[in-house]
Amino acid sequence: MAREGLTAFQAVNRNFEEAATILDLDEEMRSILTSTYREISVQIPVRLDNGDLIVAQGYRVQHNGARGPYKGGIRYHPAADLEEVRALASLMTWKTALLDVPFGGAKGGVAIDPTGMSQGELQRLTRRYANGISHVIGVYRDIPAPDMNTNAQTMAWFMDAYSGREGYSPGIVTGKPLALGGQPGREAATGLGVIYILEAYAAEHGVDLLGLPVVIQGFGNVGSFAAKEAAARGCRIVGVSDRWGGIYCDSGLDVGQLAPIVTAGGKVADYDGTHDVVTNEELLESPCRVLIPAALDEQVHQDNADRIQADVVIEAANYPTTPFADKILFDRGVTVIPDILANAGGVTGSYFEWTRNIQQMVWTEERFNEALHNYMVRAYAATSAFAKAKECTLRQAAFAIGIERVATAVRLRGYI
Ligand code: NAD
Repeated sequence: MAREGLTAFQAVNRNFEEAATILDLDEEMRSILTSTYREISVQIPVRLDNGDLIVAQGYRVQHNGARGPYKGGIRYHPAADLEEVRALASLMTWKTALLDVPFGGAKGGVAIDPTGMSQGELQRLTRRYANGISHVIGVYRDIPAPDMNTNAQTMAWFMDAYSGREGYSPGIVTGKPLALGGQPGREAATGLGVIYILEAYAAEHGVDLLGLPVVIQGFGNVGSFAAKEAAARGCRIVGVSDRWGGIYCDSGLDVGQLAPIVTAGGKVADYDGTHDVVTNEELLESPCRVLIPAALDEQVHQDNADRIQADVVIEAANYPTTPFADKILFDRGVTVIPDILANAGGVTGSYFEWTRNIQQMVWTEERFNEALHNYMVRAYAATSAFAKAKECTLRQAAFAIGIERVATAVRLRGYI
């Protein structure tokens, strides 16, 4: 999508430029870091169970690999296109650098609506896509992971397609099922990481989590675990939504009742506790102290930023806030904790899983969560300290820390 005259990649690069200016980064480095290293576009024919053929387009973009193998998820979504995938790949570069995990940035996408597709159709789609990009991925080259509408099963098919060619290779993807080299804790890691960031923010600003009203847009992998973890810390989850709409209850929703409904394939609107039915647009503007967008890109934009009621927006989704909305929120005193910090628990957990696969060992979930916590609070503290020192936003600070690390690696490796 291109909202407010900016494609997603242009918007991310606008954020890049603001941080690059704080760092006084030279023009040559800027031109390396605002473009992508490699872009693959592949045709994916899929035979449906009814005999029909659909032909989808798949993408893999590798943005920058100066600090390590490319890393980034794969999304199946009708709006996926090359420009969006470029944006998401570049966000991965800044995210991995900010968290100081030894990866570069990449992303994959297939332009398809997987709603209603059978497991057989999804498996054929995934194998075709894996074959189409197999020449640019590898355990030390580029390691995909789940993202929107993909999950541990998708990763299992992907790993099998790759392993058929290269030999048993669990380290080719992260976010795998536990039975295939997955790491306990990884599935929940993005949502849990979001709440570690909320805790760090609350501790820094003297905010009491008990009874804190939270709205979460999206109740998939990230949103549902964020909801469970926030509720477990005493937050009041007052509103949630999925693609079909939202529900709101000022006295709080019972996440323990809601989660199994959605896991079983239901909608959040099937919840039978007390609630009002709201649209996704209304949900974002509902009364709360904390808003966690955990669904799609460009959800907070210049037409609704004025009506956001939260004190803090924690970006669990990638690129949920447009640059224009960012400015409006800043002027209104709303804190935005940027995606490359807030949702970095996913790639940090993937890093742990990948190292475990290489060593053929698994951590306990306790050890995994302890390490995840350390990485997340360290990145939060660094971002907050940078923002205070330079009197800039948390987004500018997070980008600047990431950019500085990548630029150092680019110079040391002699790219320019
Ligand atoms: P998912 O497919 O598991 O869940 C997506 C959720 O969003 C579902 O509840 C879906 O119904 C909902 N949704 C779809 N369209 C919507 C709409 N128009 N309005 C409201 N809700 C809508 O995806 P996910 O893995 O949870 O990813 C969500 C976001 O988090 C994406 O931006 C993704 O890039 C980001 N992210 C995911 C991970 C990860 O580990 N999965 C890591 C980092 C960032």
